[in-house]
Amino acid sequence: MTVNVLVELSNRNIDKTFTYNVPKDLEKDIKKGVRVKVPFGKQKLEGFIIEIDNPLQDDLKDILEVVDKEVVLTDELMQIGTFIKERTLCTLISAYQTMLPKALKAQNKTQINKSYIKEYSLLISKEEIDKLKLNDNQKNIINEILNGNNTRDNLIKVSLSSLNTLINKNIIKETLIEKYRLDDGKTYNYPRFELNEEQKKAVNIVMNEKDQVYLLHGVTGSGKTEVYMEIIEEYIKDNKTAIVLVPEISLTPQMVERFKSRFNDTIAILHSRLSEGEKYDEYRKISKGLVKIVIGARSAVFAPLENLGIIIIDEEHTTTYKQESTPKYNAIDIAIERARIHNAKVLLGSATPSLESYSRTIANKYRLIELNKRANNKELPEVTIVDMNKEKKKGSYFSKLLIDKINEKLALNEQIILLLNRRGYASFITCSSCGYVSKCPNCDVTLTYHKSSDMERCHYCGYATKRHEVCPECHEKSVKNLGVGTEKIEEELNKLFNARIVRMDFDTTSTKGAHEKIITAFKNHEYDILLGTQMIAKGLDFPLVTLVGVINADTSLMIPNFRSSEYTFDLLSQVAGRCGRSERTGTVIIQSFNPTHYAISLSKTQDYKLFFKNEMMIRRKLNYPPYCYIVSIKVIGSDYDYLKVESNVVANKLRDNLKNSEILGPSIGSIFKVNNKYHFGITIKYKKEENLYSYLKKLLEFYQTNAKIKIDIDFNPISW
Ligand code: ADP
Ligand code: ZN
Repeated sequence: MTVNVLVELSNRNIDKTFTYNVPKDLEKDIKKGVRVKVPFGKQKLEGFIIEIDNPLQDDLKDILEVVDKEVVLTDELMQIGTFIKERTLCTLISAYQTMLPKALKAQNKTQINKSYIKEYSLLISKEEIDKLKLNDNQKNIINEILNGNNTRDNLIKVSLSSLNTLINKNIIKETLIEKYRLDDGKTYNYPRFELNEEQKKAVNIVMNEKDQVYLLHGVTGSGKTEVYMEIIEEYIKDNKTAIVLVPEISLTPQMVERFKSRFNDTIAILHSRLSEGEKYDEYRKISKGLVKIVIGARSAVFAPLENLGIIIIDEEHTTTYKQESTPKYNAIDIAIERARIHNAKVLLGSATPSLESYSRTIANKYRLIELNKRANNKELPEVTIVDMNKEKKKGSYFSKLLIDKINEKLALNEQIILLLNRRGYASFITCSSCGYVSKCPNCDVTLTYHKSSDMERCHYCGYATKRHEVCPECHEKSVKNLGVGTEKIEEELNKLFNARIVRMDFDTTSTKGAHEKIITAFKNHEYDILLGTQMIAKGLDFPLVTLVGVINADTSLMIPNFRSSEYTFDLLSQVAGRCGRSERTGTVIIQSFNPTHYAISLSKTQDYKLFFKNEMMIRRKLNYPPYCYIVSIKVIGSDYDYLKVESNVVANKLRDNLKNSEILGPSIGSIFKVNNKYHFGITIKYKKEENLYSYLKKLLEFYQTNAKIKIDIDFNPISW
């Protein structure tokens, strides 16, 4: 027997399988899709069996070991892997690896242990035991087992040595029971609602119509989650399974509680805050068919459920559904491909759909379903936009109105959410004598001052240095902090208000469980004000929150990306949706220096359709998606002069070969240098380009042996 193995190295030069011989004693363990260890040059590597063949060849090396008993790469995952390779032009192995949890990737080094609990049972009958001469401890252990208290933890409390004696004498037997690390054993009870007419209609359309992809457009609080759960219930009755994707940051205990209340332990949950062991356990529950529903962030789209009925993608406009590292796939594309394979459906949901998705409903590619009312008949909160240019007190981060409202709500003992989409203390550190700006030595970006650690940090590469007291250029003592981050706002809030304040951003949530802790504490009203970055804008539901304030709505408008207006409108609509969700009416205050910009002014009424119309006009005028597709090409390397020349060569090659496209660049990117590597950007805009994939493949092949230059291709990029 021989096998074709795809090894763990991701390198374009060896993007193919290698054939090995299988020694006789390993033949019985050979299956397509399991991992094996093989000799490769001087190394020992892991790889996946892709094909099994029969004829024995003499000149082949033997495989060394079969790693898995059960198949890791199912036929479907292999098919999806090929799809990712074709769509993103990555290597096949990197497509396969990205679909699997770390414990199941082909990697010679990882070792994740299953966790077990030990249980004990009697090997002989009670009558026979009574005839034996046992000491008191041994008798007690037997009694505990008979009473059902048979775990190791319990029995070693009586006596470890007696337990061992009973095992050695073959009176009791030890069994290993696989323990899944996330089983919390809790029961949840979130109320179940009778769906309103709009919600019922939405469920009916998805269950009864023939379309494959549906877009559920519903304002925040319109009861989309209830609709999802109802639909899933129908599929489960029909013996089908479901995947629910949610943005990483909205995988909160609240969200999980709602699903667990309805579906108990038929759910597996996957998100990045789990340990590798926990992820592996959840994943095994899925592959053993122990669960019917998988809820998770982006990579949960690969969960190997069989009999898939529906894939639901909540907040479908969220940028995190696109993976930013290679392979740069979009989970929505994967969901649609899996739905095609399973003859299943895809349901996208959002209050602010991406322009691409919403235009597809107009082109009849997706079926549009609308929820126009809030489910509990609460009005949308009242939104006031404050023009910060007109504030009397210059230089204050808070308008008079926001200060008054915060005081009012604090007096009523209600809660407040404040958003500032920038972490740290100050976003610029500059010298007022010579104009020096503190920059990262590895990246072309300014350093952010973090007061708690008294360090200047780079948010791109993690570089950190002690704060400069004197200017390193002119040696004057005139170094100043400009710009403002969450850390600074927290300090200001503490000066202004007598309130309990908690900050939630990247810096306060880096330890495991920190995120949940903050949310739970705020929900229990241990704090009055929750201050945070966009992390707090999504999915949270706190009945006591009656005021939402946006400190500076302009931060996301300034990013150099054609989607900046879309992001701003999304963010403001989302954060406004966080309040007034219960009996109390909500107030939203948005502070801005650009109050008439449509992305800001339209968030007052959360009028998505009007925003869509405005934004589409601009996209059309500038020829941006959805009016065309974009491919972003980065030419990366450390030799600036060489790169400058070669990136022009690349751009010219593209111009010569992609005749139906517009080629922009090369230009130096908005972030020109990251981690000491220079980046030149080239943008391809096209509507229809038959040659695109085949030519880009050629381009990659052309440069694959050139060590001085790396070509990075991103189809439908989110950032650049
Ligand atoms: P969305 O996902 O659209 O933001 P949710 O499903 O979270 O909306 O619902 C918003 C709120 O309305 C939640 O508190 C939810 O429990 C409640 N809700 C949803 N459906 C109903 C209903 N049919 N009747 C009463 N309350 C509902
Ligand atoms: Zn840096």
